[in-house]
Amino acid sequence: MRRCVPLLLALVSFASSPRQVRAQSHAQPQAQSHAPHWTYEGAEGPRAWGRLDATWKVCGTGHEQSPIDLGGSVAPHKARIDERFSATPFVLFHNGHTIQAAIERPSELTVEGGHFSAAQFHFHHPSEHTVGGKAYPAELHLVHKNDRGELAVLGIFIEFASQDNPVFEALISRLPEAAGDSVHLTTPVDLAALIEDHAGESEEIFSYHGSLTTPPCSEGVKWTVRSRPMHASFRQLQRLVAVLGESARPVQPVFDRR
Ligand SMILES: [Zn+2]
Repeated sequence: MRRCVPLLLALVSFASSPRQVRAQSHAQPQAQSHAPHWTYEGAEGPRAWGRLDATWKVCGTGHEQSPIDLGGSVAPHKARIDERFSATPFVLFHNGHTIQAAIERPSELTVEGGHFSAAQFHFHHPSEHTVGGKAYPAELHLVHKNDRGELAVLGIFIEFASQDNPVFEALISRLPEAAGDSVHLTTPVDLAALIEDHAGESEEIFSYHGSLTTPPCSEGVKWTVRSRPMHASFRQLQRLVAVLGESARPVQPVFDRR
């Protein structure tokens, strides 16, 4: 199904130059620097990822890949997102595929009885997950690890709003412009306010077992995607997209996941 990308954002994305830089998995900032190139389009795009490196095979053969279209067999349910957020300084890093924020004071997520600690968050344009075939302008991924190295990702859609999101502005005004650039934000940013967390309230979420959405596409990732989006103004999203470019893997087959 064709993604429903808002026209102006699509144009901004189209105008930004394709990124041809060294691969560095956005979920693993310390990934080895000798990994092959990968991109979001063309000969090294998502359809080819599984063939680009022997350790990336699961990108093409896996049965629990992410992202997926939500709302079909993976139905939403009411639950409370059990996460304690901290206000934290962080370092914004442009890794050539996304803008990643390395968190200095981790937030703590409890999911399926396990405890996970947030290491970083980053962005995709348009959203990687879709709901009933509809993509949002962008998606934030808050990536958590536990002490066994297992991953749990909280996905938050970003929707247009008529006004600026003042917390988001702290990032947007300081974005690293080019691959390899980084910016240290020393003033703590309130993560709960950024993603418009309704602490302790039960809400509609999607949870499923999936993978990293970039090479090496490793499976075993516990995904929680919130149905309710956070918000940013058109200007703020335009700014993000101008730096980020197109950065979404297409949705993958659900197979027999529920
Ligand atoms: Zn991501």
